[in-house]
Amino acid sequence: MPDRLRTMTQLKEQRLKPAEGQQPVALLRKYRRGHGWGHFPLYDPADAAEMRPLSAKQQAAMTAQRTCPECGQVRGYVVHRMCQECADREQQQRLELQRRTCMWCRRVSPTPHPVSASLKGRRGECVPCWLHRVIRRQLEEEPLVVWRRTCPGRDCHKVTATDEEVAAGTWRGPRWCSPCAERDEQERAERERERREAEERAVEARRREVEALEGWARDILADPDTAILDMETTGLHDEARIVDLGVTGAAGDVLVDTLINPGEPIPPDATDMHKITDAEVATAPSFGAVLDKLAAVLHGRRCVIYNRAFDVARPRYELTVHYRQTGHEGPEGAADSWLGKARFEDAMVPYSDFCLQVVGIRPLPPAAGPDPDAAVGGRGRQPRGIPGRARIDRGRGQHPGHPSGGHVAAAGLGDPHGHRTGPRHPRRRARAKAPAGTDGP
Ligand SMILES: [Zn+2]
Ligand SMILES: [Zn+2]
Ligand SMILES: [Zn+2]
Repeated sequence: MPDRLRTMTQLKEQRLKPAEGQQPVALLRKYRRGHGWGHFPLYDPADAAEMRPLSAKQQAAMTAQRTCPECGQVRGYVVHRMCQECADREQQQRLELQRRTCMWCRRVSPTPHPVSASLKGRRGECVPCWLHRVIRRQLEEEPLVVWRRTCPGRDCHKVTATDEEVAAGTWRGPRWCSPCAERDEQERAERERERREAEERAVEARRREVEALEGWARDILADPDTAILDMETTGLHDEARIVDLGVTGAAGDVLVDTLINPGEPIPPDATDMHKITDAEVATAPSFGAVLDKLAAVLHGRRCVIYNRAFDVARPRYELTVHYRQTGHEGPEGAADSWLGKARFEDAMVPYSDFCLQVVGIRPLPPAAGPDPDAAVGGRGRQPRGIPGRARIDRGRGQHPGHPSGGHVAAAGLGDPHGHRTGPRHPRRRARAKAPAGTDGP
C-alpha cells in the first residue's frame, strides 16, 4: 500500500475528510482481533477536503485524549494506558531485570548473570547457585566412578581399572578380581548342584508316590473283596435320585447292572448327560427293590467309588427315602448303618494325584458339582455303546469278555483328562478309576 494513502480513521486524525465525490483508490484487507477480516477503503489525502476547524473546547478534549499519562507527551493517536514508546521501554526493562535475576534463588544482581551452556535455558544463575550445582553433580558422579573402577565381588574393594585404561578411555565397567571371580564361579556351581539335587529328590518323591498309588490300585484290583460302584442320577442336587446302578468286581465281572425307576421324571439335563430316558426306567425296579441284591455285593466288601462325597450321598438319600416309605422309625440311622456295612474307598483323590505325578496334569476336578461326570460333561460324548449295549448286556443277563484289570487300568490312565470322560458303565469305569501301572497285576 502506498504510504500516502489513508483510511477514513487516519484521515480524521489529520482533520481531513473525503472531498465531495472523492472515491477510494484502493481497498485495504486487514485482520483485526475480535473482528475478523475486514475491508477498508483507502483515500488519497491530497484530494481530501479539510474538516471544519475545532472549537477551543474540542481542541482541548482532543489533546487530553492524546496525552500519555506516563511520559506526558502528546502523541498523534489516542493514548489508552501509555503510549507505544512507554510500552516498549517497559518491556525492555522487564527483559533486563530477567537477565539479572538468578533462575534458582531469584536474587537480582546489578549485572546480568552468566548463562551456563549446560543449562540450555535462556536464563542465568548466580555464582553461589552455579557452584552448588556443580559440586552436587560431582558428588553424585563420584560413587559411580568408584563403582566402575572397583571389583563388584562381595565385600571386595579392590580397584581393578588401571590408570592407563581410565586415561585411554577404554575402561567401560567394573571388572572382577581373580579371587572374587573364582569364588563366584564356585558359588554358582554350588547353587547349580543344589538345584539338581532338589530336582532329583522331587523326581524320587514323585516316583515313590506313583509307586504307592499303583500299589493301592493293584491291591484293589487283586482283592477279591473289591466292588466298584457307579451310578447315574437325576441331577446334582441333594435330593437327586438314582436311575442306574452298576457294581463290578475288580476283574470287571458285573455284579449288579440295573436301571432304577427313580419314581420321578428325569430332567432333560440329566438325560443329556447319561442318555437314560423316562421310558427306559418306566419298567425298571425301584431302589428298594434292588436293595437286597446290592447288600449282597457291597456289604463286607471294599467298595471303590469315584467322588465319595457324592456317590455315597446318593445311596444314603435313597436308603433314607426307602426306610421312611417302609415306615422305619429312624430312616437316617438305618441308612447309615446299611452303608456302614461296606468299606467305601474314594478313587478320585488317588487318581487325581496319579495323573498329576505321571503326566503333570490333574484331571478336571468335579468342582462345579459333586458328580465328576457332570463336571467333566463327558458322558454325553461317550464312544461306548451306551446305552444300547448296556441294555443288551442287561437283557442277556451276562457280560461280554473284557481285558484284564491291569491292562484296562493302564489304558484308562493314558488319558490325563480321561477321568470319567469315558465310561459310565462300571466295567469301563474301572479303567479310569484304578490307577494301576502298565505293569498291573
Ligand atoms: Zn509515554
Ligand atoms: Zn542464585
Ligand atoms: Zn574382588
